[in-house]
Amino acid sequence: MAFWNEKTLAQMSTEEWESLCDGCGKCCLNKLIDDETEELYYTNAACQLLDNQAGHCQNYSERFKFVPSCTKVTVDNIESLTWLPDSCAYRRLFVGRDLPTWHPLKTGSKQAMILAGMSVAGKVTCETKIRDIEDHIVLWPMKDVE
Ligand code: SF4
Repeated sequence: MAFWNEKTLAQMSTEEWESLCDGCGKCCLNKLIDDETEELYYTNAACQLLDNQAGHCQNYSERFKFVPSCTKVTVDNIESLTWLPDSCAYRRLFVGRDLPTWHPLKTGSKQAMILAGMSVAGKVTCETKIRDIEDHIVLWPMKDVE
């Protein structure tokens, strides 16, 4: 049985925990919350450290030095990170779902994740280049495919 099916999130090693990230980059997008309805909206305005074409952080190991507000996903805070997309492996396992069929741990590469439309690569704009973030609300990051 795969480790993500037989272990709880708290039982996983650091290496196992890190390998759960599918590399979609959706968590690197700016989000908006409606003041009245508290509804969450994703935008295509990406963190300044994101490589927009490759769809991943350009300096993952030192990201907190450049973006102090970046959030590290941990077993202690996963419950509160309700803004993570439904497709996120951490959210999926936390709510009792399995990893999707396109996940790199199941397929051996990121190709199926990209083909499933999960990657932000090539779909985003750097947050430093946008004027009105409300013009950048998009629905595609909410897509969740089995
Ligand atoms: S949303 Fe989840 S799976 Fe996707 S890059 Fe962020 S932490 Fe990794």
